[in-house]
Amino acid sequence: MFPPTGDPLCRFCDRPRETDQFADQEATDRGDAAKTHGAAGIIEPMLRRNFLGSLAAGAAMARLARTEQQAPSAAGGVFLERPADGQPHRGKVLLALQAHSDDIPLFAAGTVAKLIDEGYTGYLVRATNDDMGDAPGLGTPGTIAENALGNERDNNEVARALGCKGHFDLNYSNHRMADISLNELICRLVLLIRVLKVDTVVCWDPWAHDEENPDHYMLARGVEAACWMAGRAHDYEEQFAAGLAPKAVADKYYFARRPEITRVVDISRQIDKKVEANRANTSKGPGGRLGSRLRAELAKRNQRLPLLGDDDATADRNYIKEFDMSRSRELGKQYGVEYAEAFHYVAPGAAGADRDPRVDSYVKDHVVAK
Ligand SMILES: [Zn+2]
Repeated sequence: MFPPTGDPLCRFCDRPRETDQFADQEATDRGDAAKTHGAAGIIEPMLRRNFLGSLAAGAAMARLARTEQQAPSAAGGVFLERPADGQPHRGKVLLALQAHSDDIPLFAAGTVAKLIDEGYTGYLVRATNDDMGDAPGLGTPGTIAENALGNERDNNEVARALGCKGHFDLNYSNHRMADISLNELICRLVLLIRVLKVDTVVCWDPWAHDEENPDHYMLARGVEAACWMAGRAHDYEEQFAAGLAPKAVADKYYFARRPEITRVVDISRQIDKKVEANRANTSKGPGGRLGSRLRAELAKRNQRLPLLGDDDATADRNYIKEFDMSRSRELGKQYGVEYAEAFHYVAPGAAGADRDPRVDSYVKDHVVAK
């Protein structure tokens, strides 16, 4: 889940950074109310396996290239991922991971919805139980147990709103992930990646600056390691006895408070789904029911805002779109689209831990019969 309101990290711990453009954007998106915060016998099979793997990867890359040919690079070498027609990602699996129920909704809901619309089968993972509630005035006040129950229900609705096929709660204590066993977390994530056969992840950036919330960076570190280790033949090999197989994650969309932006995703077609994901966070906010709450407050004074419409659902949606989506709107404006989200994107083959794919390419082009 997300941190409290101020936190595209967590609302509770975020503060406005007047000198930081992206931090300002984050604060804007959260809305004004959130501002408060590797012998031939061995080598040959390996070559064959890697060659075949390379062919498979090549096909995947070709699909990806077709998808990306449409997109001109925007300013600063940042890749602008535009909407794709049809379902070019059909058959692929997306795992969206968040520490708290509001993380994905605030930072990456449009991209998750876009990738699912374009063919991915999506799953949502929430690492904590969100029992710490939210910043004052943002969500629904409650006890620790009420916070946990409310956020669990909200998170389920977030998964539904984004079109996810399923979701998983890891149930670590909110704000207490700093000293959990990183190896345990990695093992749990490796299992999920292998069970679901995950191709792509969306998560907090493990290498980002200005991250205050331990839940965010611990989950991100676990995900970074698990994406690599899940593809290896000797890591947690007992899982193979259960019928699983190694499965490395190909690419990663990492979001952050102050992101190293290498990719901007046009989420204009999915903005209403992003609004719905944020409307689902009634316990934590900062979207939830703040619009209808404001509408009721004004009515007591015999006042109204045309923005808030004539019913509570409209009030909540319009409030979220106007205030909580302003960061996506401002970013989109910079890239010539209506709404956008920013990522540190790690492309297929970029991890560096596997054999240089140029070896397979060289063998393919130069190999001769003995
Ligand atoms: Zn969070």
